[in-house]
Amino acid sequence: MDVAAVGRLAPTPSGHLHLGNALAFGAAWLSARAAGGRVLLRLEDLDAGRARADVATSQRQDLEWLGLTWDEEVAPQSARQYPLDGIPAFRCLCTRPTRLYLGCRCRVKEHDKGAWRFDTPRGPVEFTDRTRGPQRFLPDEDPILVRADGEAAYPLAVVLDDHRDGVTEVVRGGDLLSATATQLRLYEVLGWAPPSWLHVPVLRGPDGKKLSKSHGSTELRALREAGWTAKRVWEVLGPLLGVGGLAPAEFRPDRVRIGEFLVSDSGEVFGPLEASAALVPAG
Ligand SMILES: [Zn+2]
Repeated sequence: MDVAAVGRLAPTPSGHLHLGNALAFGAAWLSARAAGGRVLLRLEDLDAGRARADVATSQRQDLEWLGLTWDEEVAPQSARQYPLDGIPAFRCLCTRPTRLYLGCRCRVKEHDKGAWRFDTPRGPVEFTDRTRGPQRFLPDEDPILVRADGEAAYPLAVVLDDHRDGVTEVVRGGDLLSATATQLRLYEVLGWAPPSWLHVPVLRGPDGKKLSKSHGSTELRALREAGWTAKRVWEVLGPLLGVGGLAPAEFRPDRVRIGEFLVSDSGEVFGPLEASAALVPAG
């Protein structure tokens, strides 16, 4: 048993948790517990304009209801500092259209204001996803690390947080698979050992869009009001993670499903989604 494993549940307190969040957090919890490891809770509340304390409280209640216990709640992002020490970066004054159509030459201009961009070493990044196997992506070209208003952006914050919190495994939604390349490039320039990566399937609503707070009936609090138990949530989501319920002993990364699944308004899961394929219940 790898007692050094540290996983994390990192909700963004701008919307209530839905089935897609439950799937990602369930996988993160199962993976860490299967290794006999610790689970951290970290609020990703960088976007102060959208983060809400009442939503954070409701998210903690939802996680407890689901049975996703954590050993420690670490400092939220809003309470942390994100220095650029050791990271090649330059300040950029370009608007989005300027950058897109004229190109950015700020790297050589040495502005004394503007957003800080990662002077990203070029070339593809290779890594192994614990479920999906070998991956190869180009990192984003010079993504913003610190906005012009001084607020850290997600790629910087998540890398610094995971390193400082001692996180050894990142388990999250499949929509973030390619974003791993930029994060790994940051680990490279900082000389830090990266965590392992596991990306779960993407859940889409009946409109085909990634499950979000716009699909209110798939929020856990709505399902609870409709009579769902936590056991039923895991009966629905468990097959996507290769487990019958919330049972760490059954969890194996290679049994987690790959691809995209559709969730109906009433919380049924269909898939995997393939072009022109008839929908069949998952399981
Ligand atoms: Zn620029």
